[in-house]
Amino acid sequence: SQETAPPQTGADLVLRGLTKKFAGFVAVDALDLTVPQGSFFALLGPSGCGKTTTLRMVAGLEEPTGGTITLGSDDITHLKPYKRPVNTVFQSYALFPHLTIAANVAFGLRRRGRKKVTEDVERMLDLVELTELADRRPAQLSGGQQQRVALARALINQPQVLLLDEPLGALDLKLRRQMQIELKRIQTEVGLTFVHVTHDQEEAMTMADTVAVMNAGHIEQMGPPELLYESPATTFVANFLGQSNLVAARVTGTAPGDGDGDLLLDVHGTTVRAARSRAVVTEGDVWVGVRPEKVVLTPVGGTTSGPEDNCLRDGVVSDVSFVGVSTQYLVRMPWGQELTVFSQNTGAHERLRGGDPVDLHWSGAHTFCLDASQDAA
Ligand code: ATP
Repeated sequence: SQETAPPQTGADLVLRGLTKKFAGFVAVDALDLTVPQGSFFALLGPSGCGKTTTLRMVAGLEEPTGGTITLGSDDITHLKPYKRPVNTVFQSYALFPHLTIAANVAFGLRRRGRKKVTEDVERMLDLVELTELADRRPAQLSGGQQQRVALARALINQPQVLLLDEPLGALDLKLRRQMQIELKRIQTEVGLTFVHVTHDQEEAMTMADTVAVMNAGHIEQMGPPELLYESPATTFVANFLGQSNLVAARVTGTAPGDGDGDLLLDVHGTTVRAARSRAVVTEGDVWVGVRPEKVVLTPVGGTTSGPEDNCLRDGVVSDVSFVGVSTQYLVRMPWGQELTVFSQNTGAHERLRGGDPVDLHWSGAHTFCLDASQDAA
């Protein structure tokens, strides 16, 4: 008789104090992390920060030096890889070249002794939109199609958690963008927990509902992509998720404003406001930052005035780069620092040129304050 599929219970994946040392070197440093059931979770960080090692411990391919991994009430820390309700999709798809696409997808079920697999295979091929290619062999497929076979092959085993290790790394940019949207669609459709490892901030922000930014074996900050981008907690996060225009400043007071009110900051002699809700540090020396697309440039002495509550005067445009939908300006400030501004190319404003004197305007609501004891770079 046909084996029935295990019930999709689903549970949070919880890492507690998870640690991996290699010959005294701490690759993963007492990680505490909860991945909510059904979420698309991205572990994002630079090369060598420990994200693959973390994933391999969850998969059971690497023995932790310390800490625990639990799925709901089950402690899976020391389970053999094949006994965990977890599957991994790697960057190298590792398909069987001599088997058809359908047979590749069926592999996991057949190995577990299932006889009737046709229905499940059809459903999976349909999910990844490869029904027409079922009888081909991997070499006759594009990279993106092979990636989708690898995904179907993992999903057919009905894991509770799907681990994805840089799964799109081998694809060109355009295909990678398509697959990002595709992966997100599939995750929503199957409702499984996806844990996606990447060093590409755009990829993490596009797909994940929760991003954990990892640096040197620990988590710097975790949350929804917009929150990490708008309210970075550390200079590392601020810089890893884009350009942050960090300027040395000092908190001089407070003022009423939206929500919790504003901090008043001295920035090289000019008073600037920052929403208290975006400030990690609320007194003394800080880094104050604003994202490039939140800043509006106006020509000095021109008729247009800036719409926002903050204004830094007397910058000079030092570089103009046309990037299609927007233009990137570098602006040298009187104190010597260069700030970056993105301006949408709507055609509504005349473009500024190198050497033009400009003022920078932006809102206190988009201003964040970080600990000045951290490096800005
Ligand atoms: P990448 O994006 O380059 O794969 P990563 O963030 O996934 O980087 P890991 O592969 O987890 O990083 O490696 C974390 C650190 O642990 C690195 O400094 C790496 O050199 C080290 N490391 C990984 N595996 C081993 C091993 N088997 N023996 C010794 N050191 C290792």
